[in-house]
Amino acid sequence: MESLKESLMGVVSRIRSSVLLDSREVDLVIRELQRALLKADVDVGLVLSVSERIKKRFFEEEQPPGFSKKEVLVKILYEELVNLLGGEETPELKVSSTPFKVMFVGLEGSGKTTTVAKVANYYKRKGYRVGVVAADTYRPGAYEQLRSLAEKVGVPFYGDPQERDAVSLALRGVKVLSDKGIQMILIDTAGRHKDEEALMEEVKTLYREVKPDAVVLVVDATQGSAVARQARAFQEAMPFGYVIVAKMDGSAKGGGALSAVASSKARVIFIGTGEKIEDLEEFNPKKFVARLLG
Ligand code: GDP
Repeated sequence: MESLKESLMGVVSRIRSSVLLDSREVDLVIRELQRALLKADVDVGLVLSVSERIKKRFFEEEQPPGFSKKEVLVKILYEELVNLLGGEETPELKVSSTPFKVMFVGLEGSGKTTTVAKVANYYKRKGYRVGVVAADTYRPGAYEQLRSLAEKVGVPFYGDPQERDAVSLALRGVKVLSDKGIQMILIDTAGRHKDEEALMEEVKTLYREVKPDAVVLVVDATQGSAVARQARAFQEAMPFGYVIVAKMDGSAKGGGALSAVASSKARVIFIGTGEKIEDLEEFNPKKFVARLLG
């Protein structure tokens, strides 16, 4: 399947091969852009507003001297895509107190447990003392999965396969790890329950009792714009400030997932780019778009 990068490069080459860039030619460019974004599952409303803004800016804004029309249009395209994916700044998860407790939420299969290990590895490499807590008491196997990932990363782990109560487990985990001098505690939570309502109840209670310093929602890039609904459901349960989009590797729908969360209040901080512990990249909208446009 044609990736977002390939189709956006098609848009750029259409701009480059245009002759006049009059309204007819710009419309053709915009239509190709819309096709590219819709195929990546970007929300229709967002696609239309980006298109309108690009056209308006191109025809109405005074253009900087010394640039050709083509260069100006590519520049506007670049800036508007950056905006669509979260804007200029590079968001960051800062370890601003000790222990800094980070709670990870997300639906089962999104890549949450793997992502916890990746983030542990990332901050460990930055020199922090990191520990992980397996507070998914619902899914059999979650304990063992995180335990072995933690071992691979080389960070302390807390879990208890006998414990059924996620809240008391998480609280105990935080206590045990902070007594060990751990600076950053990553808490993996359940992604499935009896039903979605029970799941949201559990994460809500965890949020209230554990009082995390940050909450990270993990979503799956292959789900495209459908992640917007998940983000809203979790946002109702607790305010999360950060998102990690896992499985961006080889996902044609990654653009949709990214824009779905970038248009919410939360910031995308990392993207997952593979199954290995190292496959985690800081998300920087500018760099990301620059790479997309080739
Ligand atoms: P959880 O149920 O949300 O905890 O999900 P897991 O962490 O168990 O991940 C589900 C599957 O997705 C596993 O097979 C992971 O190896 C895979 N996975 C997680 N992150 C990524 C990623 O960034 N890229 C790819 N290709 N696979 C991933």
